[in-house]
Amino acid sequence: MSAASERFDVAGCGSMVVDAIHSAPRIIGPDEKIALQPDADGVVVRRFVGGVTLNHLGWARILGLRVAAFGKQADDPNGRFLRDGMRRIGIEPSIDVTGSASSFANVYVDPAGARSIYMVRGATAELGPDEIETRHRATIEAARVVTSEVSQVPLAAVRRAFELARASGARTVLDLDVPPADAVPLLGTQEDLHAVLELADVLKPSMSAAVGLVAAREPERIALELASRTGAEAVAITLGARGAILAAGGATFEVAAPRVRVVDTTGAGDAFLGGLLAGMRIGLDWEGAARLGNACGACCCEQLGAFPEAPEALRARVLELWGELGTASALPPLESPETRRGEAVEHFLAVDDFLGMAASELGATAAKLDRGALDRGARLVEGALAAGGRVHVTGVGKPEHVARYAAALLSSTGTPAAFLNATEATHGGVGQLVPGDVVIAISNSGETQELLGAVAAARGRDARVLAVTSRADSSLGRQADVVIEARVAHEGGPLDLAPRLSVLAETLVLAALSVALQEARGLTRADYARLHPAGALGRKSREL
Ligand code: ADP
Repeated sequence: MSAASERFDVAGCGSMVVDAIHSAPRIIGPDEKIALQPDADGVVVRRFVGGVTLNHLGWARILGLRVAAFGKQADDPNGRFLRDGMRRIGIEPSIDVTGSASSFANVYVDPAGARSIYMVRGATAELGPDEIETRHRATIEAARVVTSEVSQVPLAAVRRAFELARASGARTVLDLDVPPADAVPLLGTQEDLHAVLELADVLKPSMSAAVGLVAAREPERIALELASRTGAEAVAITLGARGAILAAGGATFEVAAPRVRVVDTTGAGDAFLGGLLAGMRIGLDWEGAARLGNACGACCCEQLGAFPEAPEALRARVLELWGELGTASALPPLESPETRRGEAVEHFLAVDDFLGMAASELGATAAKLDRGALDRGARLVEGALAAGGRVHVTGVGKPEHVARYAAALLSSTGTPAAFLNATEATHGGVGQLVPGDVVIAISNSGETQELLGAVAAARGRDARVLAVTSRADSSLGRQADVVIEARVAHEGGPLDLAPRLSVLAETLVLAALSVALQEARGLTRADYARLHPAGALGRKSREL
């Protein structure tokens, strides 16, 4: 196990779905219409937290494991519903909320239990391998075990997650939920599917998925054949009330499920996987881990829905069904949310995600920086200075602070520059400009009205404009003599809205401009010392 800081026993990437269960008098066909009927409690639609991955993480969580879910949702009501559910039971979220729609399923159930399901993959289908790399690497590297699925997530993303997991020494567990014919091409290529199967240390295929992969038809033979074909350490196949079959070390064994009164079998297989993961965590052999898996699967059948919404009660019931009280003490305790809040683990995860994204966005900004534009910008400034003009830097909102910094940086490195207050510019402030001056205008969108007003006023004073913005074709870009683009795909942080990475990218571009200007002016150490008579930098510049 290499991960330097194994904060998570399990980090899972995959389906996170709101199941909206509707009670219908019967399942209808095309061109039919029918009124839904309230259940015994008068409820017509019940919403449940669900999805293959969230479910198994939930059951592992109530057995005391520290679990994280990573992937993509949207900033919409379904996404908030899912994230609330995760928070309630303590699944750490590492969720990018920039997807088009959080995944949901409309499930119609008739009184006999027959059901039809209409599913929207939404954001889950939009998760790409690059995002796994840039947004979720830190989560993967902080986990002992990484789980994923062949169900809704693009196979290329699963593959990347498993590759990173393997590289960091984590074990990989794959829930194979749909047959190959449904997975390819919907989720990716045949090659990706094979790669994912071979990267999995543990496989949990559904019968229908397994039957599409191997020639065998008997669960024992299927499990054995899959294990030998993929090199998996263990293959577990669940068999409903019968329990589960496992293949490991060239042998198979069957583990019977406890008998329970079944209310709803939805997600029993996911609960089984949660128990299996908990068994692996406390070092049980495969048979012992499968017994714990069966206890979770059976317990799940006793409730409506798959997600374990009542952690204490369900944990107690799982332990009762498992019956191995001696071993139960090896399971980590279920920490209260208060204890966990004290540890602030969630914040670390969000911070790690942000830092990973910052490194990749700033790396991309540096790599893409248009050297020609930078050179034209430097020459615009030099030309103005040579002709007796001055340099002003302006911005509105967060870029105002960047503008103040850039003016200070340029001044201290040989290019005298002053801050120009954009909102005051149209109220007389523009009087600080004289014809031939240069205004460096900073705006991420390039559409900020106050800034555009200031730029128009500067133009009225015959000043030249150097824009630092995300798009050359923005209103600001179009009014500028030179545009240096600084564009990021994400701001980072919760909600992905507050200007964080765009501000760093603008700062990076302006710092690069200051380097070009300093170099062009040939600023010497003695010049630098003269500009810094006080302070540590001044002392340092006089030292050599
Ligand atoms: P899935 O939800 O993938 O269809 P299964 O129906 O095979 O999965 O159930 C998964 C696990 O849940 C089983 O291995 C077993 O442990 C438990 N389980 C399912 N149905 C029952 C049942 N009727 N009685 C007891 N346990 C059950």
